[in-house]
Amino acid sequence: MFPDENETLRQRLVRRFTSPNSRFWLLAACLPLLTVLRLGVLWHPVQDPADLPADLEPLTVAPEPRRLRRTLGDDDSIYQSLKRQPLSETQVVELIEAIKPVFNLRGDSRPLDRYTLVLDPAGEVQRFEYLPLREPERPLVVERQEGRLVGRRNVLPLEKRTEAIEVRIVDNMSNAIENAGEGQELTDQIADEVFGSVINFTKDLRRGDRLGIVCEKFYQNGHFIRYGQVLLAKYNGAEVAQVGVYYKDPEGRKSYYDGQGNSLKRMFMNYPVPLRGINSHFNAARFHPVLKMTRPHLGTDYAARQGTLVWASAGGKVVRAGWDGGGYGNMVEVDHGSGYRTRYGHLSKVSVRTGQRVDQKTPLGLVGATGLATGPHLHFEVIKNGKQINPEKVNHDALGAPLPKNALADFAAQRDQYLSLLAGSTQVAAHLSPSVSVAE
Ligand SMILES: [Zn+2]
Repeated sequence: MFPDENETLRQRLVRRFTSPNSRFWLLAACLPLLTVLRLGVLWHPVQDPADLPADLEPLTVAPEPRRLRRTLGDDDSIYQSLKRQPLSETQVVELIEAIKPVFNLRGDSRPLDRYTLVLDPAGEVQRFEYLPLREPERPLVVERQEGRLVGRRNVLPLEKRTEAIEVRIVDNMSNAIENAGEGQELTDQIADEVFGSVINFTKDLRRGDRLGIVCEKFYQNGHFIRYGQVLLAKYNGAEVAQVGVYYKDPEGRKSYYDGQGNSLKRMFMNYPVPLRGINSHFNAARFHPVLKMTRPHLGTDYAARQGTLVWASAGGKVVRAGWDGGGYGNMVEVDHGSGYRTRYGHLSKVSVRTGQRVDQKTPLGLVGATGLATGPHLHFEVIKNGKQINPEKVNHDALGAPLPKNALADFAAQRDQYLSLLAGSTQVAAHLSPSVSVAE
């Protein structure tokens, strides 16, 4: 910056806009703009009916209610978000007290949840509608009844459909699924729950690979609401081929199996957060971006938004939880037995305590940037007999437990039923694709 230049520029601007001639033209230019703005306000629809769940009746209490539509940010809570609205502390507390009996403020809300706050002309809360992404078919509604705010959960009747989807990989799975018109939640289910321990989605995918999916989808009045269970996923690639079949065994245990009925579950999940990429791999001699010196990177850094849920890669017992004092910041360490431990660093929040037993995928805390970190990410380590090993190689050569023999026939029948749905979708796609009809 050069202050002298700025000064001259400012002086020049002041001179130009304070001369009588330019003031006239400035005013003349502003008049039509002001008119457009006023018309814009008049034309702007007061409410967008498409945004409301179908069973919410229009408000009749006040003649001119004010509607505020908000979305929870990363690391946000309903309470924090409400405090930023034009409400007094008493109003916020009254609303929170009405929500509490019907909604778990900590557990049921998450970033990107949306809500609408309706205020009467006096600024009094008349209504609060909250759409939890975790359970979109059960919106939370708080309404003023006889002067008091009362909360309830609505239940939207949903229709379940089983659909087959076929996608082709260009660069990564997330984009391939999005190009097929499907959402990130589906990618996460496949990357975490179906193939979470057996396919390395940062290394094994190649352009032209195919992925077939049979899954449940829930609709309301023809509108997609959310995904249900992925029933089958079939990855057919140059580097890796894998089928995952959802099956509930005779004892009621639900899991994913390969085509022969061997469990796809491994001791460790490949990723302790939904996969959004890897910032830094395990490296014995890396130049450290914060310390500015060569220092081994003894774990894997997963890209993740601030506030993303971090889960246990395997079942075990928490041996450390909280502020580390060193570079890890807030961290959790879990002992899995057989000489294995895992560490999760830079967390913004820790949600387990030392001594607690956790299962695979139990939430441990939230992604943050505490300790020696340039930005939010998860630093993840796998330790075997006191020495860090490469987390991306931990499941190699492991084999999952097979289904009991008496369940195999039933399993095979279900697998074939799902596969036939996929074959049907492929045929339809082939008929619609012009390149295929030319080949015929
Ligand atoms: Zn790291």
